[in-house]
Amino acid sequence: MKAFRCFVVGTDTGVGKTVVTGALARLLQERGLAVGVMKPVETGCEVRDGWLVPEDASWLAGLVYPEPDVLLDRVCPVRYGLPAAPAVAASHEGHVLDWQAIHAAADTLSRDVQILLLEGAGGALVPLDDHHTILDAAARLGASVLVVGRAGLGGINHAALTIRAVQDAGLSCLGFVLSDPLGEADRPALAENAAWIARLTGALHLGTVPPVHDRSPAALVSTCRDALEPALQVLVSRVAPGERERRARRLEEADKRLLWHPFTQMADFVREDQILVEHATGAELVDTLGRVYLDANSSLWVNLHGHRHPRLMAALREQLGRLDHSTMLGLGNVPSVELAERLVAIAPPGLTRVFYSDNGSTAVEAALKMAYQHWHQVGKPERRKFAALEGAYHGDTLGAVSVGGISMFHGVYAPMLFEVVRVPFPDGEGWEAELERCFAEHGPELAAFVTEPLIQGASGMRLLPPGHLRRVRELCDRYDVLLVVDEVATGFGRTGRMFACEHEGVSPDLMAVAKGLTGGTLPLAATLATERVYAGFLGEYARLRTFFHGHSYTGNPLACAAAIASLDLFREEDTLARIADLAAGLEVALVHAARSPHVGATRQLGAIAALDLVRPGGEPYRWEEKVGIRVCQAARDHGVLVRPIGNTLVVMPPYAVTPPQLERLFQGLERAIERVCGEV
Ligand code: PMP
Repeated sequence: MKAFRCFVVGTDTGVGKTVVTGALARLLQERGLAVGVMKPVETGCEVRDGWLVPEDASWLAGLVYPEPDVLLDRVCPVRYGLPAAPAVAASHEGHVLDWQAIHAAADTLSRDVQILLLEGAGGALVPLDDHHTILDAAARLGASVLVVGRAGLGGINHAALTIRAVQDAGLSCLGFVLSDPLGEADRPALAENAAWIARLTGALHLGTVPPVHDRSPAALVSTCRDALEPALQVLVSRVAPGERERRARRLEEADKRLLWHPFTQMADFVREDQILVEHATGAELVDTLGRVYLDANSSLWVNLHGHRHPRLMAALREQLGRLDHSTMLGLGNVPSVELAERLVAIAPPGLTRVFYSDNGSTAVEAALKMAYQHWHQVGKPERRKFAALEGAYHGDTLGAVSVGGISMFHGVYAPMLFEVVRVPFPDGEGWEAELERCFAEHGPELAAFVTEPLIQGASGMRLLPPGHLRRVRELCDRYDVLLVVDEVATGFGRTGRMFACEHEGVSPDLMAVAKGLTGGTLPLAATLATERVYAGFLGEYARLRTFFHGHSYTGNPLACAAAIASLDLFREEDTLARIADLAAGLEVALVHAARSPHVGATRQLGAIAALDLVRPGGEPYRWEEKVGIRVCQAARDHGVLVRPIGNTLVVMPPYAVTPPQLERLFQGLERAIERVCGEV
């Protein structure tokens, strides 16, 4: 797929983009370039002899290809009869947009050409299906965008808005062409209109096309040749062969030379082919080569409603128009207050104070320091220790590492860490007695018991026994120990409830949230506390009871605005009901996956699914065999991005994943498992 792709996007229907596309195609051919054309979706097609005939696409194909009829299915792979937006026409005609057909057609038409011109349908934000607009199609197909606007009255506004939408979508905007299909434009104003559009958007004016009354090839090129000269120059300059591949390779090489990736053995990383993500929509990520992947772990638990959800993008844009950042040290900002109101309203009862930070580790770190300092200031300095479970993971700052219980990650830091009362993982019969023994022995010296609720994530999606969290709460109450619950991974619907604590009717004294808080858009975390904990920090300044802790970006207004919009979406889209549907889909998929001889135990909690890879017969692989890592690497070839925990695969896509995407995801995983485990 070496052709440069240019998506011609109109500011509206009837602005002349078909004529501009056709003229550009012929004029590029005239310059000796190999050109392809495509109109991926056409609506309002007439039925002739039982077939839907796409008028614009047929005209374009006739201009460019020697045998247009043979290629018409590729030039226009998706057609609808209803003259409406494609998403609307599709729902009337009971169709689901066939992305695979569009990609396959674009790949075929790109094969032997230097440039593929793709014509949109209507304007930039015309919906193609529930999740994609015309601009998303341009992104998925790896195309740059040329905007065609009307030259007449109203043209400035529409063209500027369209170009801004293209820029906001992160697409490369080549520039704009104005067209005057009906000869209505006020001639003296034309040049000024174009200058205004360029000034408002920074986009290049690439020509103004006069009315084209005769659409025969000869008349078309002679009418448009001079007018489109600037557009032709830009396009010709982009048609360096293999430009896209070269750029992708250069970026990959620079990544390997300059970056240090988290939780990644860089010696392996630099040896293997890597992916650089450039675009995303819904549950899909697109790389620098235009390859599409399902985001099977929600970009590490953060993405909830799908990538670039329009509501979240709009909230961010609005906030950008008001305030970027101001410090919260002794000062407030509006979105941080509004978000605190929202968080307190949905948090388990009793959590009424919100302390912001930037990520899960810092939210836990703040909770630990709050618990410790609280006791120090209420006359019980002997409560200095923390209790936590074996296999716990709470983040990578040193306090969070101290309470964490995964020696593989953190063993090397042991001398830097504080001592923790370690409670065995509760997987046997006697876990309650074990827990009671811990409290009986250490209760009076404990500042807090720290735990992930219901499920341990990083140690392999291990489910805690039902009633565990409730029992811990009871013992904390009995021994007057604070309960710190780490909802960093489980919060915001992952387990089927807004917070995992709700499954057991538990209210902690301190609760850490992060990851999904902003719906996967910006880093933000919060530590929620009870009034009792908070009260321990009040007093005369000179008594030094202040919580001397905070970060430069604490309560960042942009992140808070995104978080508010994400919480709004839970209501507007009934997200918890969606999660229930997703959970049901995951359950079915896991039952199917478990039939493989290479899959051992499977586990599920709400929208989190996990499966252990084993040898046929059930023997586990050694972690050094890197079977999990190798399966995930192989899954990339099947369009699935997923991360393992040892030899456990974890599947937790954005809640917006569609049933066909979920099916593709598991099919991809199955093939990867078969390929790798079949050889081990
Ligand atoms: N707590 C839990 C339960 C987590 O799963 C994680 C991250 N995987 C963290 C804390 C740390 O969060 P972050 O990576 O945002 O620092």
